[in-house]
Amino acid sequence: MRAVVLTEPEELRLVDLPEPDCGPHEVLVRMRGLGLCGSDLAVYTGSRPVDAPWLMGHEGVGEIVAVGGAVEDRQVGQQVAIEPNYCCGRCPACCAGFTSACPNRVIVGMNHPGLLAEYVAVPAAFTWPAAATVAIEDLVCTEALTVARSAIRRSGVGPGDRCLVVGAGSQGLLLCLALQELGATAFVQEPHEGRVELARSFGAAPVAGDDGFDFLFETSGVPQALHDGLGRVAPGGTALLVGISTRPLELTSADLVYRQITLRGSLIYDHPADFDDTVAVLDRGAITPGKVLQARFDLTEAAEAFASVRSVAGKSWISF
Ligand SMILES: [Zn+2]
Ligand SMILES: [Zn+2]
Repeated sequence: MRAVVLTEPEELRLVDLPEPDCGPHEVLVRMRGLGLCGSDLAVYTGSRPVDAPWLMGHEGVGEIVAVGGAVEDRQVGQQVAIEPNYCCGRCPACCAGFTSACPNRVIVGMNHPGLLAEYVAVPAAFTWPAAATVAIEDLVCTEALTVARSAIRRSGVGPGDRCLVVGAGSQGLLLCLALQELGATAFVQEPHEGRVELARSFGAAPVAGDDGFDFLFETSGVPQALHDGLGRVAPGGTALLVGISTRPLELTSADLVYRQITLRGSLIYDHPADFDDTVAVLDRGAITPGKVLQARFDLTEAAEAFASVRSVAGKSWISF
């Protein structure tokens, strides 16, 4: 089968690999689509180191073509989204349902081989069957949309709340869509004009002089952008941090205490409820996130696809 591996930073090679075996608790998935995000770009450029040659990709969807002997609740022919974080299910965090904090977490494409291959073997419990009516473009966004919807769940946003989304990359755009589905109002703060236009076409309003927001969702990871965004949050408001940076924040306790701001970090999603919930929303057609996809590539164009993550407003994806 064909697969794409990283041989050194910014060097990809299309290779021929043996088809994986399907273990008793696994399903074999024939891949149909793979979304790309900033995490893939970090692996591609070498800022997130991996052992070469490395199989790339983590936002994968496809069709089940074989089912392991011990698997009872998945069938050949189902289209599935893959949940690319395999929690251990045994540690205190997992037992508390807080699987995103699992210290044993297998992160596909980061500390475990990725999904950019024609066939992948995946633990059945981490594949999510979607209705046949869900378009492949919408299904490809499942993982990234689940990240956005989990941040929203953790924030406590409700209908009618005014939300400031800082950064209108693909995560910011998906947040805007998910906030609107909930009946909240999304405003975006973003320097890139193309991304602002895309957000506007999804019904989000660009921020002008607005402030007094109930919630802030920070997706850019830029410390200054968080600082500016916090200044626009209403007293008693909540800021969810989704973007990641190792640069220090310029923040004093006075900034938070006088206006009684809650700061909360949000990392991925918790198994199994968050993926289950997102796929149910896609099955109902309540969100069509596929419109975030703005650049489609073939498996043979993987290098162009990864390089495009920097420049494309919206999301890039590879179609198999
Ligand atoms: Zn991703
Ligand atoms: Zn665990």
